[in-house]
Amino acid sequence: SKSSIATINPATGETLKTYEPLSDEALEEKIGRAADAFRSYRLTSPQERVGWLRAAADALEADTDAVAELMVTEMGKTLAAAKAEAGKCVTALRYYAEHGPAMLEPKLADAGAVGAEQAFLVHQPIGVVLAIMPWNFPLWQAMRFAAPALMAGNVGLLKHASNVPQTALYMEELFRKAGFPADVFQTLLIGSSTIERVLRDDRVAAATLTGSAPAGQSVASIAGDALKKTVLELGGSDPYIVMPSADLDRAAEVAVTARCQNNGQSCIAAKRFFVHADVAEEFTRLFAEKMGALVVGDPMEDGTQVGPLATESGREDVERYVQDAVDKGATVVVGGTRPDRAGWYYAPTLLTGITPEMDLYDEEVFGPVAALWTVDTLEEAIDIANSHPYGLGANLWSEDEQERSTFIRDVQSGMAFVNGMVTSYPELPFGGVKQSGYGRELTDLGMYEFMNAKTVWIG
Ligand code: NDP
Repeated sequence: SKSSIATINPATGETLKTYEPLSDEALEEKIGRAADAFRSYRLTSPQERVGWLRAAADALEADTDAVAELMVTEMGKTLAAAKAEAGKCVTALRYYAEHGPAMLEPKLADAGAVGAEQAFLVHQPIGVVLAIMPWNFPLWQAMRFAAPALMAGNVGLLKHASNVPQTALYMEELFRKAGFPADVFQTLLIGSSTIERVLRDDRVAAATLTGSAPAGQSVASIAGDALKKTVLELGGSDPYIVMPSADLDRAAEVAVTARCQNNGQSCIAAKRFFVHADVAEEFTRLFAEKMGALVVGDPMEDGTQVGPLATESGREDVERYVQDAVDKGATVVVGGTRPDRAGWYYAPTLLTGITPEMDLYDEEVFGPVAALWTVDTLEEAIDIANSHPYGLGANLWSEDEQERSTFIRDVQSGMAFVNGMVTSYPELPFGGVKQSGYGRELTDLGMYEFMNAKTVWIG
């Protein structure tokens, strides 16, 4: 994918900083240091880790403005969104500090039933975990891995996306500043072609990847060959279903945020909108009006709602999807253009008249482009939604109890949100089914993914 490790400001196209990838020797040394760090870090107490997590939360809180500006410069999200992202990371650190110790308590089993004096389950850290992360939420995606991993007693190696090297280095610095033992969290400035070497290293126990399906396939097959555990959080093309009983104005307002958050580049963005025929005209009018009213501009400026796309090739991909749909008969209700300014901007766009021949029908558009279908029943919406290879999140707007339970029962997704948009919270498990990947992040489930659930029987 990306050819060099560099910060390139998407709002201007200017290359601000370039990094040399780690040499083979430097990489070897870092992996060795991670393995050494694990030997002692696994023996630290949950209470010690809680103290470091809380210190990291405080340090990040103090650094919020600076790290938010860094993220804006590296990938173009709005400053307000970047600050919110840093805040969410603080929350996740504090969540694991508060709840982590209980998650690490042994879980008693029925000793009598198995002829033992004592029987229990104890969760132990697995070792050095490689995290391959994307640029879209450069702090949050990495923190969602790091907070539970460090609470668990694991050691992290972060291979971040090549276009967010400074945010990646900040992560390492943050944990160092917080007082964690040396080398429990290191950033590896390496290209994706070097991942195989790290994954196959005997000192690396497991890997987690958030990103595209091709990257997931590559990592999962290498890890499979080496018999190492993986968690994959891949793409999504979440459905957003609007039924006649919905509060249409609210549903349209949230639809705009759900699609255009992070300049349209979120795995859990709502991407396919299914609207019941009885309210389709009214909803489409409201949705188009609100999409058209979004303020597109410099992400550093107050009041900007949509900044540029993160990369030039990302914008080209989005343009190609829209052009392909238009060529095959889609209607552009609003947007469909590249604003006349420097940087990789793309206007918030609403398309109707979607047919299966269009590439966007069963792929993921990573930009502010909404595709809208009119449906006659909830079942029809769910059927088309489920025909997609992805199954990350799903949204329903309805006041009808029967419709809600049908949606929750039948939609093929890892997350189902009713009358609100799919969002990640430290307090709720996060992940998908089908080609959106497997495994869960956040909560105790996320922490246990990279722990050995050891059965203990004492006679
Ligand atoms: P990638 O999947 O290419 O990048 C995500 C991470 O994986 C980066 O660290 C990247 O490193 C690494 N990577 C890339 N190729 C491989 C590989 N073959 N083996 C192992 N690791 C790899 O995402 P892109 O940024 O290229 O975006 C492409 C598309 O992916 C988007 O349009 C979107 O559809 C989807 N995507 C989904 C995300 C999500 O949140 N689910 C996030 C980002 C993208 P490097 O940067 O060095 O290439």
